[in-house]
Amino acid sequence: MVTPRTNSPDNSYTREHPERFSTAGPAGPLGYAADTQADLLLDLDLQDPSDARNASRGSERAHRPLVRERASTGVLRQGSGGKRTQECICVGICMTLMVVNFFFIIFHVRIDNLSTILVAAFCGIVTADFGSGLVHWAADTWGSVELPILGKNFLRPFREHHIDPTSITRHDFIETNGDNFMVTIPFLARMVWDFLTLSEDDVQKKFTWNCYVFLLALFVAMTNQIHKWSHTYFGLPGWVVWLQECHVILPRRHHRIHHVAPHETYFCITTGWLNWPLEKLRFWSILEAVIEQTTGCKPRADDMKWAQKGT
Ligand SMILES: [Zn+2]
Ligand SMILES: [Zn+2]
Repeated sequence: MVTPRTNSPDNSYTREHPERFSTAGPAGPLGYAADTQADLLLDLDLQDPSDARNASRGSERAHRPLVRERASTGVLRQGSGGKRTQECICVGICMTLMVVNFFFIIFHVRIDNLSTILVAAFCGIVTADFGSGLVHWAADTWGSVELPILGKNFLRPFREHHIDPTSITRHDFIETNGDNFMVTIPFLARMVWDFLTLSEDDVQKKFTWNCYVFLLALFVAMTNQIHKWSHTYFGLPGWVVWLQECHVILPRRHHRIHHVAPHETYFCITTGWLNWPLEKLRFWSILEAVIEQTTGCKPRADDMKWAQKGT
């Protein structure tokens, strides 16, 4: 649902460079302290002039080959023909359904219900943020990139995103958003069906729910795009920067906290509103402890394995 897409042809990149998984404990595999390592990882972005200034020359040297190799693995390739066609169709259908639903909502909205509708819309956005965190946390924390199907197609893009955060910025709109747009189609289609077939009374009975689903679907669909913007330092439209600065969508500096090894907090990547409260509640670490106790599986065990191989 919140996949930082990648196009690398196989697992060789991560296999050949396990030392570059930034999960080897407090000092990290490159021997930098955690905060320096944050700059290092952010230096991979190489797009923020202030970070580039702050990062040491050594760290740039340490990572530039990684960026070059990344490019040579084929990250700039477009998706395969069939996948690309499917993504184009999904983006087209989803955007059409969004527009149609938007006009239905405007047509049926009643001003006296506005406060309820606003609460529902807010809850929809918060749910999308939580969903992005849950999926991201699961993919970062559990399972191996070598698992059949799931490992290569779902887990690996998340893990590689920690090594090369800029790859997401090289994906075009279709490639970035195709999968998330696809997920929302059944819900948006159901909503259009409701608006077309229900009586006005029944439309009003479901109206608050549909506003909740609409905002949920909109923000789920936009999650990868918002995440991509949080890694983009040049050429962002002014309104996107404004939304980031007002923290309506994931701000760039806020998301950096997640990019500090071992990537165990601030998983929410839609608005990021839940990151601070979930951190204060120690939500992710408690959830991990419960899962470890009940299943015996260690969180980030796969990343730890890579780190150990690299030493
Ligand atoms: Zn992550
Ligand atoms: Zn990121």
